Amino acid sequence: MISSVLERHAEWRGAELPELTREEILRYSRHLLMPEVGLQGQRKLKASSVLLIGTGGLGSPLALYLAAAGVGRIGIVDFDVVEATNLQRQIIHGTSQEGRPKVESARERMLDINPLIQVDAYNEAFTSTNAMEIARPYEVVVDGTDNFPTRYLVNDLCVLLGKPNVYGSIFRFEGQVGVFDSGRGPCYRCLFPAPPPPGEVPSCAEGGVFGVLPGTIGTLQATEVIKLLLGIGDPLIGRLLLYDALEMSFEELRLRKNPDCLICSEHPTIDHLIDYEAFCGVPSHDHGQETVASDWDIEAKELSERLHRGERLRLIDVREAHEWEIAHIEGAELVPLAVLPEHMHEFDSAENMVFLCKSGSRSARAVKLLRTAGFRKVRNLRGGINAWSREVDPSVPIY
Ligand SMILES: [Zn+2]
Repeated sequence: MISSVLERHAEWRGAELPELTREEILRYSRHLLMPEVGLQGQRKLKASSVLLIGTGGLGSPLALYLAAAGVGRIGIVDFDVVEATNLQRQIIHGTSQEGRPKVESARERMLDINPLIQVDAYNEAFTSTNAMEIARPYEVVVDGTDNFPTRYLVNDLCVLLGKPNVYGSIFRFEGQVGVFDSGRGPCYRCLFPAPPPPGEVPSCAEGGVFGVLPGTIGTLQATEVIKLLLGIGDPLIGRLLLYDALEMSFEELRLRKNPDCLICSEHPTIDHLIDYEAFCGVPSHDHGQETVASDWDIEAKELSERLHRGERLRLIDVREAHEWEIAHIEGAELVPLAVLPEHMHEFDSAENMVFLCKSGSRSARAVKLLRTAGFRKVRNLRGGINAWSREVDPSVPIY
């Protein structure tokens, strides 16, 4: 399968590129001065189109730099609204935009930077149902969402449509960048045929992220996108760049195409998009509090009423000590999830116990662990301590 970018570069040798206006020549003069870009390169960028999935931490620098560089048509997809917890890293949005759809906030900012480009805003979730239709008109797809279902969806979509996929991911102080172009190298599935078990890799909402990190990784992704569009330099095809912000070090892994890859090998078994949330066992958004309801759940209100009635309930908080310091419920005991197995013998299976964490997903794993070990009277505080704050005691800070 030949990548659409390669095809287009071939077309350009004969075809007409759009002319630059005087206004564009002035705006892009620092690009025009470099022989690697020049007038031809800037005209290529003007003729280019990129689809950016997500306008969050990675999406912010991507959208800002692609707009500033003069990429002629940029599609942005997001279904979220701007929230206070976004602003520590999602620098395309501002405090005045809280509560507004992210694609609207992002589009306004991009057009303020560069009114000479076209920004298509898709205020919807990117799913197997709409992905093909949305992505088809664009030459390059960039994944700025950093979650497993969207990562596999974007990978499969790009292999099936023959488009390059510029990948980035972040966790706390570490990040990765790569370009998956199955016409010229491996795809994401060549490396990781299947996602990790649900819950094994914590999301940023759960594990936190260093605010500058998505800026660094998203900017590297933007660099790769612009190089692909211009056809210059060595793209990160067949290479995975690893970045550690604490050590301030970069490493590079060489990647090989998997001859048995389910989607990009010569005998693929996947020929259409599947249900990626089911495939990964997790939702494709990062809110944390929206865990799937279970019979083992207890609502914050019910827990509060039962405690008020003087019922004997043991509250076990499975978060980390530094989270306990931010906020905790009086009377709870701290037993971080990582050390829970060592403390299980201290629990009495005759006791009623309620487990809690920040948003309910770690404590759901704790409850599952205890249920498997034979405990029957264990429940999970649905929505975690943040739900407790919203529904019972607003003096407990939400984080
Ligand atoms: Zn592959």
